[in-house]
Amino acid sequence: MIAEYVIVGGGAYGCAVAYHLASQGRSVVVLEAVGVGGGASGGPGKRGVRGNRRDLRELPLLREAHRLWPRLADELGAETGYVRSGSVSLIEEEVVGGRGGVVAAEAHAYTQTRFGIPTEVWDGARVREVIPGLSGNVRAALHVPGDGVAAQYRTTLAYADAARRSGAVIHEGAKVLELRSRQAGRHARVVTEDGRAVEAERAVLLAANSSVPGLVRENFGHVVPAWTVYPQVVLLRPEHAVTLPLLVGHDSRLISVKSLDGGLIQLSGGWRGRFDPDTGRGEPVEANVRGNIAQLEALLPAAGELTRVSVHVASPETATVDQIPFVDAVPGAEGFYLATGWTGHGWALLPAASRDIAHLLLHGTAPSTLAPFSLSRIP
Ligand SMILES: Cc1cc2nc3c(=O)[nH]c(=O)nc-3n(C[C@H](O)[C@H](O)[C@H](O)COP(=O)(O)OP(=O)(O)OC[C@H]3O[C@@H](n4cnc5c(N)ncnc54)[C@H](O)[C@@H]3O)c2cc1C
Repeated sequence: MIAEYVIVGGGAYGCAVAYHLASQGRSVVVLEAVGVGGGASGGPGKRGVRGNRRDLRELPLLREAHRLWPRLADELGAETGYVRSGSVSLIEEEVVGGRGGVVAAEAHAYTQTRFGIPTEVWDGARVREVIPGLSGNVRAALHVPGDGVAAQYRTTLAYADAARRSGAVIHEGAKVLELRSRQAGRHARVVTEDGRAVEAERAVLLAANSSVPGLVRENFGHVVPAWTVYPQVVLLRPEHAVTLPLLVGHDSRLISVKSLDGGLIQLSGGWRGRFDPDTGRGEPVEANVRGNIAQLEALLPAAGELTRVSVHVASPETATVDQIPFVDAVPGAEGFYLATGWTGHGWALLPAASRDIAHLLLHGTAPSTLAPFSLSRIP
């Protein structure tokens, strides 16, 4: 089998880059180990499209993503579940270390706005007008009206379908084990677990999330300094209905809250499950589930008792030391590129980052938006 571009991994990034390449007339084969959207880009609930308190190096991409998300469903011809709800990052403390608190709010709002993410500071009364039932300890919030949420699985399938309509071929159940770089007149190629070899006339993109560091190390001996985490999402049914019209984050607590259909609350914010070597999957850590829920109880006492509906920690995600991704050519492996290390917040960037990754593959040069994500930032 041969194509101009081969993509390893059929998550949101693999499918979206395939769509951008195929819709520009390029031949593309995607090899997905299990099923499209079966990894971090799947699972229940929604994902936050959040610029509020995001790493400044990601804001140029996020600004572009804010522009692209509202029109994505029309472009792909399928629902994405995107809602521009706005977000708040709640503030309870006067000072939080060197980065937060009421004292830092105006500076964050100014900086985010200068990066093209309009942000305003709300006082506690204004926040409680919008979210009645919020704890009286909330003193202020950063409000970003351009933030929102989107449905990850539906959007990933929408990208995959649009890629197929443009001619891309997506093979599921095709786990890639072996990588061979371009050399001595031979194309770069990959080999699947069941022995299928696929050649790439132009380039291979490794978009297999937590598998990327291992694939690169085992095949090319290069270290991608990143590790696997199992982000925790808890679905809760509140005793009393609460109004949560925005995506809610926090300045100092590990908490992120979204409201789902049917009065359910989706709770996350940086808590993790752990790897279970027996099942090879993530499993919940009870103390972390309780810790996450305790944060919400403190913030939203009006919700009353919070009944657990389900806990999800199965999807691996790759984290990096500086908490921003790696998008680059693989050193010493001609014809290979990688995009991984989204560190739990890759979703929001998807429409813009996938388009720019496709540009990197087509032209061999990274647009300026991707420059901070180069592997060369690690000496
Ligand atoms: C629970 C959770 C909550 C999150 N919440 C948010 C949020 O609110 N906002 C936000 O911005 N981001 C969020 N994220 C992060 C975001 O969802 C991810 O960064 C993004 O989905 C990563 O997409 P991906 O395509 O790189 O990876 P994945 O979707 O994991 O896709 C990688 C694919 O590669 C396949 N694969 C693996 N190994 C191989 C192999 N050897 N051969 C072939 N295929 C292989 C896998 O089966 C998988 O389908 C969250 C992530 C999780 C897990």
